[in-house]
Amino acid sequence: MREGRVIVNFSRHALVEDDAGARLDCQVRGRRLQAVCGDRVRFTVQGSGYGLIEEVLPRRSVLSRHDPHKSQAPLAANVDRMCIVVAPVPTPEPFLIDKYTVAAALLGIEPLIVMNKVDLGDGADTALAEALAELLADYAELGIPTLAVSTIDGRGLDGFRAELVGRTSIVVGPSGVGKSSLVKRLVPDLDLRIGEISRASGEGKHTTTRTTLFDLPGGGALLDSPGVRDFYLWPMALRDLGSGFVEFRALAARCKFGDCSHRVEPACAVRAAVEAGELLTRRYESYLGLTRIMEKQYGWEEEKRKKCGRSKDER
Ligand code: GDP
Ligand code: ZN
Repeated sequence: MREGRVIVNFSRHALVEDDAGARLDCQVRGRRLQAVCGDRVRFTVQGSGYGLIEEVLPRRSVLSRHDPHKSQAPLAANVDRMCIVVAPVPTPEPFLIDKYTVAAALLGIEPLIVMNKVDLGDGADTALAEALAELLADYAELGIPTLAVSTIDGRGLDGFRAELVGRTSIVVGPSGVGKSSLVKRLVPDLDLRIGEISRASGEGKHTTTRTTLFDLPGGGALLDSPGVRDFYLWPMALRDLGSGFVEFRALAARCKFGDCSHRVEPACAVRAAVEAGELLTRRYESYLGLTRIMEKQYGWEEEKRKKCGRSKDER
């Protein structure tokens, strides 16, 4: 049996690259096996240029699409770096950035905040530039590295490339911050490679709307996923949400109640730290905002579960 990595997956087949760099179109064995972009798989060769995926190796991480109106679907596996792209235009939304950092923390993926369009800084609104610099400094203080780049004049791109070496990274962020422009700058021959993938899909078009893995010149890979670019946080218990805020973690152990939601309970170490100015109020407010969203989504999940009359695990 041979081993390789899924470059792009379709419904029951996938383009797999073996460790020597050869690519095969592989069917997936059975109904239950699910191979997604980034997965390490074992496959057998069935003929010239095609094979059969027999096994999906354990994943280091999984990114899924969580849309409350659609079913949950894994989109990418084994991502170890989440590049959260922000820019002075469109105006950054700290709450959205927090959402990404929480997802990264809970999934065991290292976050990196990439501020694109630094070229706009020259002669642009200084108040805006200062606010942004402050925001990024807050994240740096939380241990989340930040980086400033421009796809237009190329500033910071070499530093960014160096960050991507030896890792599997994904680019996320709201529309308009320059994610496509960044992917174009970082992946050589992008159009050619998209063309190749379109042919493998049988879909014919020279575009891809699927999560796709692109090898990078220095080693490492960049995943581009339209589905993950603006994702929802999945429904989760409040205590899990709290642990997504890395700065709450050590404090939460000192809360009076083990299952403290850090909202109304007495002797809450997290709230005390916010009141003492040791934690950023803004992050705490993001946490509160997310608890409200979770309750709404959880309510929705519970309702669905009751309607089905079965627990989630039985489905
Ligand atoms: P996406 O929606 O995040 O994929 O963003 P795009 O890559 O489509 O870029 C959105 C807009 O921002 C386009 O008009 C780009 O030309 C522009 N843009 C991208 N990168 C930069 C940059 O570094 N500087 C400036 N000034 N504009 C940029
Ligand atoms: Zn607490």
